[in-house]
This record gives sequence, C-alpha cells and structure tokens, in this order.
Amino acid sequence: MTLLVPQSQGIPIGEPTPLSLPFWDACADGVLLYLHCGVCSVAQFPPSPICRVCGEDDLEWRKSRGLASVYSWTVVWQPPAPSFVVPYAPAIVDFDEGFQFLTNIVGCAPEDITLGMRVEVLFISVGAPTLPYVVPTS
Ligand SMILES: [Zn+2]
Repeated sequence: MTLLVPQSQGIPIGEPTPLSLPFWDACADGVLLYLHCGVCSVAQFPPSPICRVCGEDDLEWRKSRGLASVYSWTVVWQPPAPSFVVPYAPAIVDFDEGFQFLTNIVGCAPEDITLGMRVEVLFISVGAPTLPYVVPTS
C-alpha cells in the first residue's frame, strides 16, 4: 500500500499577497481562516476584496473548525517538477462552514479516497508558508 505523504521542501510555492497574508499567517499558527460576508452571510475562499455573491466589501476573516468532506480529487503519478513526491492527491474539499478549498489529501492510500470522505485540516511546514493539508478523520 502506498501512503500519501506531504511534499518535502523544494517544491514551487507562491508568495502570499497583501490580500492572502492573514490566511498564511494563521496557517503558520495552526488556524484555518476563511472570509465571511457581513451582508449576505456567505462563506468564501480564496480571498477576494469583495463578496462574490452580493458584491459588497463587508468581509471579515473567521476561524474554520477545519472539518470538511471530499468534493473531488485526482491522484498525480507523474511529478510536474523533480522536487515533487508522487503519488499525491490534490483535492477540492467542502468545509462545514460552506466554503471550498483546494488542498492535498495525506495519511491514507490513494485507493481509499472516496467521494464525501470526512477529512480534517493538518498544517505542515514545507518551508514558508505552512500549507494546509487534509487527513481522513477516522
Ligand atoms: Zn455578500
């Protein structure tokens, strides 16, 4: 059985922007943040200067409990760069607060991933920034 593991240092990682910096700073502290609209109450991610639903700018950061369900995933067997460890499983997950997030599943075998599988966030430092992965909850 092949166990999905986090990437090691050396993978290409983007730079935080002024808009996303609070999110990345929170990840370094082991906290997952998302934006909440004070007008229409919609949770959203990735960060945006205005609400994607109502267009207002009354957005505030809120803490997620870090619990989600797998919405979609794939398993990558060919590394896009030599520094990537394969296989790895990029996934879109639905967090319980109502926002989606693109992450990677670790801590299980690729063949054990299922639609709707319950996962929880796990923060792993591969240098800077700290990345939010997800692992199965059971
Ligand atoms: Zn809104």
